[in-house]
Amino acid sequence: IKISKSYKLASRDFHPDDTIIDIKGVKIGGDNLTIMGGPCAVETQEQIDEIARLVKAAGGQVLRGGAFKPRTGPYSFQGIGVEGLAMMAEAGRKHGLLTITEVMTPEYVDVCCEYADILQVGTRNMQNFDLLRKLGTVKTPVLLKRGFSATYDEFLNAAEYILAGGNPNVMLCERGIRTFETYTRNTLDLAAIPVLQGLSHLPVISDPSHGTGRRELVEPMSKASVAAGANGLIIEMHTDPDNSMTGDGVQSLFPDQFAKLLKELEQLGNLV
Ligand code: PEP
Ligand code: MN
Repeated sequence: IKISKSYKLASRDFHPDDTIIDIKGVKIGGDNLTIMGGPCAVETQEQIDEIARLVKAAGGQVLRGGAFKPRTGPYSFQGIGVEGLAMMAEAGRKHGLLTITEVMTPEYVDVCCEYADILQVGTRNMQNFDLLRKLGTVKTPVLLKRGFSATYDEFLNAAEYILAGGNPNVMLCERGIRTFETYTRNTLDLAAIPVLQGLSHLPVISDPSHGTGRRELVEPMSKASVAAGANGLIIEMHTDPDNSMTGDGVQSLFPDQFAKLLKELEQLGNLV
């Protein structure tokens, strides 16, 4: 298949070895399997503290949580903002976890860098070029989510914007694409994992939560992602998913499911 390869720095042709991003001793990429877990949104200090404790106890390395939420409708809960960043930083520090949070606008990149270890670019912002350019000017690692209608070429070109700006710490995240199927929220494109790893040296993280939108599919699709070679997983987990402040409770694992999955992945690691 011929693709344009208009990107350079993101390509394996220019950088044959896997990129390994080292954040405070946690290595992402190569043979490492990095587990990021947490709620869709940071809600209260108690909520994020308790979830951080559970992520750490289960063996995760990174606490996820949104303080700025890109909601489809303007009247939906939009996140608690900078206050949430501080709560998450505190929970991460207390439990020895790295933190990842979404940044939606260039103006908020600096404050998010102050509080979080990894910045997430959401699917709706994959081609927000002003945001990508700003992220190129910082050194904080970026997890770039694939636009829900983006081709691999468009995805890698979006990563190229960040790399070209001077930030080499980029990971790619497959989070499902829009197809004709409506049973699942999105269609998790498992082939994206080996395809992107072939085209690029950047770590590839899978998001089976947004990729399926259904709690019962998170476990099998996590395992499938690892079998396909994913360098990590980002998974939504909540202590009270039915009352979570975003609609993503339906795809959030209960803490015991999260712990069981991580244990099983560890065993699977010996097989694949
Ligand atoms: C999220 O991670 O909660 C999120 C909004 O993800 P996405 O951008 O993939 O929809
Ligand atoms: Mn979510």
